[in-house]
Amino acid sequence: MRFLVSNDDGVLAPGLAALAEALSALGEVTVVAPESERSGFSNALSLDRPLRPVRQANGFWAVNGTPADCIHLALNGLLDFEPDIVVSGINSGANLGDDTLYSGTVAAAMEARFLGKTAMAVSLAGPGARNCGPEGYAAAAAMAVRLIENWGSLQLPNRTLLNVNVPEGPLADIRGFRVTRLGHRGRAQDVLTLEDPRGREVFWIGLAGEPMDAGEGTDFRAVAEGYVSVTPLQSDLTRHDALPDVARWLKDL
Ligand code: MN
Repeated sequence: MRFLVSNDDGVLAPGLAALAEALSALGEVTVVAPESERSGFSNALSLDRPLRPVRQANGFWAVNGTPADCIHLALNGLLDFEPDIVVSGINSGANLGDDTLYSGTVAAAMEARFLGKTAMAVSLAGPGARNCGPEGYAAAAAMAVRLIENWGSLQLPNRTLLNVNVPEGPLADIRGFRVTRLGHRGRAQDVLTLEDPRGREVFWIGLAGEPMDAGEGTDFRAVAEGYVSVTPLQSDLTRHDALPDVARWLKDL
């Protein structure tokens, strides 16, 4: 099996190293990742400048672009083979509910939706995920491996990806897997108002909102209860159940 691996925390991130290391037990791993952190870049593609992949000493490709750039480049010119599976992560922090709209980790997996195989985004959920070293990702990497080892029996529609969130902590504390729907966050916290060194007012975007819908069946709930959350996602943003209402409205215009 040939894996293409990326992330949004950058080519030096410990979660990327942990994931690549774990997947190398299952097959050939190629890493194409942003040269620096691009969290929150969603599906952005860089159209205003060229992208230059630079091979690192460990064999990873570093790209001066976004996570979606990395996968786009890898699949449409950089690599001379078609990977079987694209895995993105392991992100340092959860990608739950509305986070998935902003997440570069999820976007890298989504950029692979044209491949025949499903792609997967993996995130480490919990307050410690921001500061831990590669060892902190070991359990999440093991869970990713468990999913991929059983990939053959998964039946999914085309253009679907799996968004996986693993609660932080030792492997023994993980209670199992749960299929989930996305929950929802409330409104984000206020932006920080700061003063730059030259006395001008600047702002820094604050933390995401607290979970608002973290009810039964959601990804928030599964992670809070110690389960690995697995949410199938699609790129189709159409609100299908609103089609009749809009059709009725348009008829009389
Ligand atoms: Mn990130």
